[in-house]
Amino acid sequence: MNSKAQSPFRINLHELPRRAGEMREYDLNFPAPEPIGIPLLEIRRDEPIEIHFRAESVDDGVLITGEVQSLASGECGRCLAAIDQEIVQKFQELFLYESRASDKNEDDDELFLLDGDVADIETAIRDAVILSMPINPVCSQDCEGLCSTCGEKWRDLPDDHSHEDVDPRWTGLAGWKPE
Ligand SMILES: [Zn+2]
Ligand SMILES: [Zn+2]
Repeated sequence: MNSKAQSPFRINLHELPRRAGEMREYDLNFPAPEPIGIPLLEIRRDEPIEIHFRAESVDDGVLITGEVQSLASGECGRCLAAIDQEIVQKFQELFLYESRASDKNEDDDELFLLDGDVADIETAIRDAVILSMPINPVCSQDCEGLCSTCGEKWRDLPDDHSHEDVDPRWTGLAGWKPE
């Protein structure tokens, strides 16, 4: 509970008047408390995360609209080379007043509630960051990956690179092409 209260993703909105149409802007900049991303690509722990957003009072709660920026690091899914990727992604999330929650379907996982004056935007940021990432990160779109026999990068190998001891069962397929 204590560590949760100190999460940099928990935003205190006490300066925002609770009247529909009122608006405040916020700028956050903090080191990632833990990695955010997918197995091959992530914003590493302590990497700076910048979040700029606007909080707007609406009838049922507070609508938060903004953009997250950071740098993700990882590995090419084909050749395992280290890669960096700029993350710039917009996000939007509605945080309902707790008093309005009972009007809505409680089973809805997508429902976010204000905790008093506090909106926890961690899930919104995680979702946005993951959405901005490719499903299969690669160092370049034409990366040819690794030679399946010796494990060297094709990029570093001569054009005529091959291995003598080709399994004889495969030689018959050498000229075969899929339709
Ligand atoms: Zn690669
Ligand atoms: Zn090889």
